[in-house]
Amino acid sequence: MTNKILIKDAIIFTCNENNEVYTKSNLLIKDSKIEAIECNLKNINLEEFDKIIEAQEMAVIPGIINSHTHVAGAMFRGLIDEGQKGLGLYNIGFPMEKLLTEEELYWLFLIGIAEVIKTGVTLVNDFYYQMDIFAEIVKKIGVRAIISDTLYDTDMTKLIDGQYERDYQAGEIRLQKSVDIIEKWRDKSSLINFRIGPHATDTCSKRLLENAKKEANRMDVGLHMHCAQSKIEVDHIKKEHNKTPIKYLEEIGLLEDNILLAHCHYMGEADWDIMKEHDVSYAHCPIVYAKNGSQYPKLKYALDNDIKTGFGTDWIRMEPWDGMRTAINILRSIERDPDIMGGRQVLKLNTIKAAEALGHEEKIGSIEIGKKADLALIDMNKPHLQPFYGNPSGLVYYVNGNDVDTVIINGRIIMQNRKLLTINEEQILNNIKKFIPVWIKRAEKLGVNFPNYKTR
Ligand SMILES: [Zn+2]
Repeated sequence: MTNKILIKDAIIFTCNENNEVYTKSNLLIKDSKIEAIECNLKNINLEEFDKIIEAQEMAVIPGIINSHTHVAGAMFRGLIDEGQKGLGLYNIGFPMEKLLTEEELYWLFLIGIAEVIKTGVTLVNDFYYQMDIFAEIVKKIGVRAIISDTLYDTDMTKLIDGQYERDYQAGEIRLQKSVDIIEKWRDKSSLINFRIGPHATDTCSKRLLENAKKEANRMDVGLHMHCAQSKIEVDHIKKEHNKTPIKYLEEIGLLEDNILLAHCHYMGEADWDIMKEHDVSYAHCPIVYAKNGSQYPKLKYALDNDIKTGFGTDWIRMEPWDGMRTAINILRSIERDPDIMGGRQVLKLNTIKAAEALGHEEKIGSIEIGKKADLALIDMNKPHLQPFYGNPSGLVYYVNGNDVDTVIINGRIIMQNRKLLTINEEQILNNIKKFIPVWIKRAEKLGVNFPNYKTR
């Protein structure tokens, strides 16, 4: 059965090579693809359409691509935002993740996916645990995803004390599970792709990293991992191998054009040059760096050197619009240059550039005829968004996730009028709230203080 959708009279930000923006334009979707843009409706029979979206007040952008996230991280909201000397991931994060049950994960995946869709995201590059559950969820909801099941062979709860306790066998079991998930799922949905996901350069032994690469090559999938994300990691690799993390990855043969590295805070220019030499992709997550008081990655150097870069949010709060503004603000402040990064560039780093970083630019990332219809429609008829002059800065500096009205993925409307059509939002919220006492108990054991509420 053919599916035809017409989006009428919208402002369309194509994010194509010429950065074209069409005003009062019509966009036609046929099945999963964009069939026409800027089309004249005179010779078109409107009755042919299954759905007509009146979009006079809407801006249409390519669906946002979240290049690096763990959407299940919502559990940590309010738990590790402050008071941990920037080490909440190690003090609270790793120990609490270890205790997650399948049921908890199921609802955390769902709340995370609901959150990202509501901000205009159409693809998540996500790695976490029990990703067979995640694959089932994204298939059912109809969101595009690149999935990696996290690999590690180190007891992550002991890293905070500087201990690297390896369990090689556990690592190999995880790698086999990761392979099994890919083999089970790879042909089940055109929306889902896979990567192998070693956690980081220090939490995986050399042996596990090398085996992960072998399996990735064998199955013709890429790698997705954290790199140089903390001082703990960098110091350990220096101590063990007398190298920087990136130099270490180069030496053991992991660097190729199908690996995407997230974060890369603690890297010098020589490290970025190695990334460039091997055509490695980079996922930049602006908010978490600033929030943790971390050294800010050399984003200007990466972009000046054409390293394939996409933006991500990492975990806990998956709001891409805040990330866009944060990156602009921080970079301008660091470089003392008010013109260094603009709205158009940041919008592209969240759409077509992110698609390039993930190797999907032929299919998605821009609004062009023949590409997949992955779109976000933003309601611009709001006090904080008017007057809107139809330029990228009118979007990037002012829009929030809550302004996204409609999301279309693969030609299917997933959200309209902010109502999620393939997710029961109320049910998710009710289920998540049931776990609050459980998570409070676990967090308290790890030293998180909760205020003494007074009740009458
Ligand atoms: Zn991450």
